[in-house]
Parts: sequence; C-alpha cells; structure tokens
Amino acid sequence: MGDPAAARLTIDLDALAHNHAVLRAEAKGADVAPVLKSDGYGLGAAPVGLRLWAEGARSFFVARLSEGEALRAAFGPDRPATIYVLDGLTEGAAPRFAAANLTPVLSSLPQIGAAQAAGPMSVALNIDTGMGRQGLAPDEARALVQSTDRLRGLNVGLVMSHLGSGAEPENPRNTRQLTTFLETKALFPKTRASLSASAGTFLGPDYRFDLVRPGISLFGGGPRETPDPRLKAVATLSAPILDIRTLRPGDALGYGESVRIDATTRVAVVAAGYTDGVIRAAKGAGRAWFAGAVRRLLIVNMDMLVIEIDDADAAPGDHVELLGENAPLDDLAAAAGTVAHEILVRLSRRAERIYLGEA
Ligand SMILES: *Cc1c(COP(=O)(O)O)cnc(C)c1O
Repeated sequence: MGDPAAARLTIDLDALAHNHAVLRAEAKGADVAPVLKSDGYGLGAAPVGLRLWAEGARSFFVARLSEGEALRAAFGPDRPATIYVLDGLTEGAAPRFAAANLTPVLSSLPQIGAAQAAGPMSVALNIDTGMGRQGLAPDEARALVQSTDRLRGLNVGLVMSHLGSGAEPENPRNTRQLTTFLETKALFPKTRASLSASAGTFLGPDYRFDLVRPGISLFGGGPRETPDPRLKAVATLSAPILDIRTLRPGDALGYGESVRIDATTRVAVVAAGYTDGVIRAAKGAGRAWFAGAVRRLLIVNMDMLVIEIDDADAAPGDHVELLGENAPLDDLAAAAGTVAHEILVRLSRRAERIYLGEA
C-alpha cells in the first residue's frame, strides 16, 4: 500500500513529445538522437524511449552497457533503434554488445584495439576537441586514418565530440572546439558527424551537423541553464502538506537554528525532503508553488521541508508543487548550486510515479 502522505512524481510524456518537436525544429534537418543515460535522466528510459520512438526518433544514446541492454529489451524486435553506448567497449564485453546489437562509442586507442580484436562491428568514434574528459586526441585520430590497418574491420558510422561550454553562446571555447571538430571530421569525409547536446543544438547551424544528442532539453531544461519558454516541464514533483504552523519573532526553525524568525511567519510543513530529490542546498534560495503563488523554501530535511505560505488558504493534504511548470527545473538547480541534470537524476524512487500520455 502506498503512503497517504507520499510525494507524487508526474512524468508527462506529451510534454516530452512537445520538447522533442521543439528540438527537431531547431535541429532543422539533423537527426535528433535522444540521450537516455541514467535511466532516461531518472524519468524511466523505457517509457521515455518508447514515446520518443513513436515521435520518430531512431537513434539513442546511453552511458552504460547495461542501460543499452535494458533499452534494447524495452524496444524489442519491432523497434530496431540504433543504440549507442557512450562508455565504449571494454575488454570482453563484445559478446554482450553483439547480443543486444549495441554500437559502442570508442574513445581511446585501447578501446579501438578491443573492438578490432572482437571482429567486424559498427562503431562511433569520439574525439576530444577540447573538453578534456573523453575521446581520442585529434592527432591520434589522424594517425589511425593514415595507417592502413588500424581501423580495419570497424565500420565507423559516426564521428562525434562534445562541447564543454555550449550553454554559454559567447564563450570562445565553442568556436575553438568547432574548428578542431571540423578539422578532425575532414579525416572521415563520408562519415556522419555529431557535436552537439541540448545546448549546442541551439548554437546555430554550424553546430548541428548530421545528428544532435539532446538530453536535458527533452526533459524541459533550458539550453542556457535558465527556464526556456519554448520547452515544457516533463517532471512535476508535488507533496502534501502535513501541518500548518505560525512561527513568532525570536523563534528558530530547523537544525542548527538554520532560520531565525524576526516577524510572525505562517509556514506549511510538507511531506517531501531531500530523499525525494529536493536538494538540501536549495533552502533559502529555492521556491515552491502553492495556492497560485511562489513560496519561499525555508528548510529541507530528509523527509520534510518547510515553506512560507503567508495568509494562503491551506489545509493538511493540500499539494505543494516543488518542481514543475510553476517551480522550474532550472530555477531549482540554480538555487541548489547545481545543474538541472542532477536535479532530475536525484528525483525520488520513493515518490509515487504517474505517467501521463501514451508511452
Ligand atoms: C550527457 C550527454 C549528452 C546530453 O547532454 P544534455 O546536456 O543533457 O543535452 C550528449 N552527449 C554526450 C556525450 C553526453 O555525455
């Protein structure tokens, strides 16, 4: 039996489809290949992937091999998607890639060696154009192409890279990475190319190439890390009020007297906490939505949080929106000092999950 006071996580697949259409329009002719790592940014790779397939997506990215296997199982034989695994190929993993028909994204010379040793297969090549985290150095890519046999047996279907500062359109790092990508891509003249995640998709035509790889903007996160009116909230987290209290001047609220009260303050205690994904660091700067207005988030504990409600009509059991259309993902992330991606993947396994719209 569910808890009477459970937080509720609503995942709106119609909003997801809307965001996919926005990205498709922005990508112009480029393919939109959703990134569904970390269980579809915590929202369920299977229902999200099935809906995006229905919306026309045919290529997908995940991080781990096991995520690729799970997504393949969800798609089944009737939906022959191309599924790229960003971790690439490790020694001994080739049979699992073959069994689930997954395409490794190779990011290092040892991975390329492992793929060659395993026999002919389709792969993607990841180039480090200046993010520094992952990928072949451009010189390594050049040496591979110039040798006659170092890519033999590998069908390189995609050359890709990843931007480190795509959310800042004016950052010169973007043009530096673009230049390096163009130079490296020229080594593979017949191969499809991909540079951009959500943010880069909105950087204009130079950054789109053949395929874009959005994650966060499919789920409503703005490409500039601020709310974007074109995108809809996919995840809505709400929780019921447990109690309504009036605090008096001189009172202290929460552990370590975190909040000192200097004027009479009416508050609601809400049945959600950092267990449910409301990051504790959002206290003070965070906002919730209740009774038609934005409310200040005063403290966040493990299972409870407290918001200020002024003179709003309120009763135990009334739901407070902690994340959603009226409590934007990017604002909560900014208040918590993090990115929208982290907010989503930390959303509760405890909350009651409700999917809206067809999968
Ligand atoms: C996570 C990831 C993406 C998607 O990034 P978003 O910012 O969520 O759009 C795309 N490409 C790679 C290589 C990634 O790791």
